[in-house]
Amino acid sequence: MRVSQLLNPTLREVPAEAEVLSHQLMVRAGLIRKSTAGVYTYLPLALRVLRKIEAIVREEMDAKGGQELLLPIMQPAELWKESGRWAVYGAELFRLQDRHNREFCLGPTHEEIITDLVRGEVRSYKQLPLLLYQIQNKYRDERRPRFGLMRGREFVMKDLYSFDRDEAGLAESYQKMFEAYCRIFARCGLAYRAVEADAGAIGGTGGTHEFMVLADSGENAVVYCPECNYAANVEKAECRPQALEGVPPEGQRKLVLTPDVKTIEDISVFLAVPKTTLVKSLLYQGDQKLFLVLLRGDRALNETKLNNALGGFVSLQLASPEEVEQILGCKPGFVGPVEVPAGLLVIADEEVPLMKRAVCGANKADYHFVDTVPSRDFRIDQVFDLRMMEPGEACLKCGVPLQEARGIEVGQVFKLGTKYSKALGATFLDENGEERFCVMGCYGIGVSRSMAAAIEQNHDDYGIIWPMPIAPYQCIIVPVSTKDAFVVETVEKLYLQLQRLGVEVVLDDRDERAGVKFKDADLVGYPLRVTIGSKTLANGQVELRERKTGETKLVPVEEVAAQVKIIIEKALEY
Ligand SMILES: [Zn+2]
Repeated sequence: MRVSQLLNPTLREVPAEAEVLSHQLMVRAGLIRKSTAGVYTYLPLALRVLRKIEAIVREEMDAKGGQELLLPIMQPAELWKESGRWAVYGAELFRLQDRHNREFCLGPTHEEIITDLVRGEVRSYKQLPLLLYQIQNKYRDERRPRFGLMRGREFVMKDLYSFDRDEAGLAESYQKMFEAYCRIFARCGLAYRAVEADAGAIGGTGGTHEFMVLADSGENAVVYCPECNYAANVEKAECRPQALEGVPPEGQRKLVLTPDVKTIEDISVFLAVPKTTLVKSLLYQGDQKLFLVLLRGDRALNETKLNNALGGFVSLQLASPEEVEQILGCKPGFVGPVEVPAGLLVIADEEVPLMKRAVCGANKADYHFVDTVPSRDFRIDQVFDLRMMEPGEACLKCGVPLQEARGIEVGQVFKLGTKYSKALGATFLDENGEERFCVMGCYGIGVSRSMAAAIEQNHDDYGIIWPMPIAPYQCIIVPVSTKDAFVVETVEKLYLQLQRLGVEVVLDDRDERAGVKFKDADLVGYPLRVTIGSKTLANGQVELRERKTGETKLVPVEEVAAQVKIIIEKALEY
């Protein structure tokens, strides 16, 4: 491809609406253009990247016995009503009506459609297991889509659904997909981690892992063990309770005046006690019920864990100051667990009962209790692991201090169990002629998101640095001058030669200054650049530069094609 012919409108300025780096670079590098909020056109270079990721995904899915199909984007509401998700999916579901007022949605995911297919076509255990997948656009009506391809309203996903006879079969399918995902991200040239994750709202019985592309800009915090292979999303990371030294108080609890001292920070300073001796008391509301949540003062609440502990409320939130006043008779800063109303459920993190001597709010304006003992002074109804993991804590598996990294979620593997097969009646007859529900799993990869994540992970001040396996083209040839006949002749020869070797090559034949061409080549992020100028060519040499390392060397013109080919082959090895 010749750059003069290529629709690749690069920009020097950072587009105003782009908030994240991958979005800025994709617009500047002429890869995408916004159609409307959260909806993008993929220009030719971006589509090449997308197709390459898809090809890797397809190969690995097929290698594990996956069968590709294509499900409809437009899905009838009836199926979503059968599964119960029409009512609970909320505003993120794009809903529409046809001319007969029949309701539909644009699929954000395809569990309903695929389960409907399988219940119609599968009769016998002999037809199982089935691993069915597609690569297709998905839709999600984000409130504020503003992160480019990282969080669009229309995006490309690969979703595979497994149907097995039993849990053991599901475990096998899950393992296959887990392995396939590891290969996919490694083959894309990305640094990633598979982390234990929270089951969240998809609702399932079994385990789940998220695949994170590591990047400082990632929105997920991940803890991992440098010693064993343990890694988890902090939302999920199990904490071991830590008991601290301390002596129980000699006397009874005492009420102390703490005028206008409301935060853990302030109380710690005001009473000159460490935060580890304070009890953080939070009144929460979920599903029209109120809960008092207790944590040690130096800990942060993990709302995901709280939500799970309470059975998964959709909208768990802190109670309003009015609710606090109504239930406990004080402002939020003075809430505490002592003598709370009998009907109020008190839920504590595992570390709270281990506290020997604690300070807590007195449910009275401007007062706290000191010298309380949890087992003596207040009621705790239920105890759970409710806190956030902190970096440096010991690995639960091997005891080595955990480290923290940030990641972008690009894939998830998930054991669904029989949630959808039961709701929609997807059954089969087993060896004994008994009817059983299919046991399902679902496995997603954000294909367009992976492209954005690759950029978040691989870039510098000059632009994108594509990993070779997913680069739009592998090599660019830049003639320094388009006037020198010998240069032009050599460039054309090399262009042909590389094409014959199967190298994906572009030739920047534009009548532009060399500096402009170099800037564009760096911005777009071609892994290899061959520069041909009159001076070096007079000595029979051209310049070969690797985008990733910036390493530049002079190579005899007759050897450069072979060297390019070798570098590419090495980079594609897996
Ligand atoms: Zn470990």
